Formats: sequence, C-alpha cells, structure tokens
Amino acid sequence: MAFDDFLGNRPILETVRSQLASCRLPHSMLFTGVSGIGKWTLAQFIAKACNCLRLKDDFCNGCPNCQRISENAHPDVKNVAPEGQFIKIDQMRSLSREVFFKPFEGKCRIFIMDEAEKLRDEAANSILKTLEEPPDTSILILITSRPNDLLPTIRSRCQMYPFAPLPLADVELLLQGRTSYSSEERQLLARIAGGSLGKAVTIDLAEYRRQRDEMLALLEACSRNFLYANAARAASGWLDKRKQAEFDSKTGILFTLLRDLFLLKAGAETQALTHADIAGKLATLSSLYSINQLMNATQSLDHLEAGMRRNLNRGLAADQFVLRLGGVTSNP
Ligand SMILES: [Zn+2]
Repeated sequence: MAFDDFLGNRPILETVRSQLASCRLPHSMLFTGVSGIGKWTLAQFIAKACNCLRLKDDFCNGCPNCQRISENAHPDVKNVAPEGQFIKIDQMRSLSREVFFKPFEGKCRIFIMDEAEKLRDEAANSILKTLEEPPDTSILILITSRPNDLLPTIRSRCQMYPFAPLPLADVELLLQGRTSYSSEERQLLARIAGGSLGKAVTIDLAEYRRQRDEMLALLEACSRNFLYANAARAASGWLDKRKQAEFDSKTGILFTLLRDLFLLKAGAETQALTHADIAGKLATLSSLYSINQLMNATQSLDHLEAGMRRNLNRGLAADQFVLRLGGVTSNP
C-alpha cells in the first residue's frame, strides 16, 4: 500500500504528492465530497508519508510509524470525531493546545477531523486562529461531505480539495475483492451508491431489492386505470409511521426510479440508468406515463422530502404525490 494504490481523484492525489515533495503541503486542509470516496484514506496516507521511517514523500506501510498510524496508536497522529451529535468546544480547546506540541516521535503532527460539519459555531470559532497559523510541525485535515454547513470563516482558512465520486467501474472492481456479489449485482451496487465505495459496502442488496419492488408496485398502481384505493394500498407500506428509516430509503429509491423513467422517455441508453438491471420493466412503465405526470410527481416528492424536516403532514403530501403521478391533479 502506497500513494500509487489510491483509487480515483487522481488530480487531488497528484496535487498532494507534488505539494509534499516540494514541502508546500498546506497546514490547514479541507477535504470535501460525498462519504465513502477516499477522503479519510488520503488523510491517513498523508499522515504516513509525513512520518514514514523508510520512504520520503511516500510511505512503506510496514515500518513501526506506518503500522501504528494504521492502528490509530501513533502519538503524533490524532483522529478527532464528534462526541455524540457534535464536535465540542472542549475537544477544540485541547486540539488548539496540542497543535503546538513538538512531534513526540514522528516528524510531523497530523490532526484529522472527520465530520467537520458537526463543529458547532462556538467550537468552530475557537479554532479559527489555530487554522490560520498552525506551527510548521502540525497539519490539520478537516473532512466533510457537507462543506456548506461549515462556517465560511473555517472554509476560507483552509485549502479546499473537492473529491469527486469514484468511477463506477472502480467501485465495481473494489467490490469484487470485498464481497461475494455477482458481476450484475456489483454493477447495481456501484450505481445505487453513486460512486461511493463506502456506501456500496454497507447496502444490503436483498433488502434494497425488497424495498424497490414495493416502490415499483406503487409506480405500477399509479400508472394504468388509476384507482385511488389501489394506489393508497400500494403506498401504505411506504407511509407506515413505524418505519421511518424505511420511509427515507424508499423515498430515495423512488427518486432514482422516477429519474430512470425520465431518462427512458428521453431515449437514454440502458447504461445511463441507475436500475439498468430492470430496464425492460422500466421501459414498459415509462410508456404508461406522460412527461407531465413524471415532472409533477417528482416535484411533489421534492416537496414531501423537504417537508419531512418541517413536520409536514406526511399522509397529505404523499396523497398529493400519488394523485399527481396518477395524472388526476397537476400543478396548482
Ligand atoms: Zn513506513
């Protein structure tokens, strides 16, 4: 394992390597991008490259320093994570102190802060000065999938490295080494995870397919000879109040199914679909809907999802979705 083994995001990797080689690595870095695409891994690689006993500007993964960094047991490499819901001000106060310690054993102290969006304002404000002028012997790496939730004053003090989702082929390849899924299943996982390996490995594919079947049944019930009672029955599992987590994931599935129906209407190739494995079924469904029905339904689904955070009456909003998808009502 070394820098060359890093997958995806080559421009970022090359930038970091050249900054390391020229001793110009910024001391306050911000890694952004969806979760599961290698942000934390690259931060670990940097920690190793800065402290490896055998290699310069790269790492061997075998020396005592590299090994202890892998085990999160090196005194000069510190991982900071939320305690409970937030990263707290006490954590930031001790970080601000420790940043100024000389390295105990290695060459450089590295502080990796995952989920940096969970810094509350007070905690964030307390490290502004540290981020602005860290000592030469310390590097702070902030990681977030939601950079817009960070205070602008934090963002402006760090050099930003925007990570992109991994190419689907890379995710499929990595899944091959880690799971026993078939090639078709790996393809589906890579697509529904949107290029995030971290997400792909946590998806329970059997459960995902069960929920997708339920959402397909809802789309079918709304498509032909629309009857409200049939559609409401098909939606009942989705709206079950005892299954809040399922509601969220089923809503996500509905979005991707509707998107595929749109793409098919627009004449897209099977390869462009998220649910390419059921392209035939989706092509039939797509022919039963008008563009307007699909657009109206997607709008209501947006409204429903946004409203969930404001305690919108879910039943009413879902009715609206079903009626619009069924072509009974359109935009007000
Ligand atoms: Zn090493």
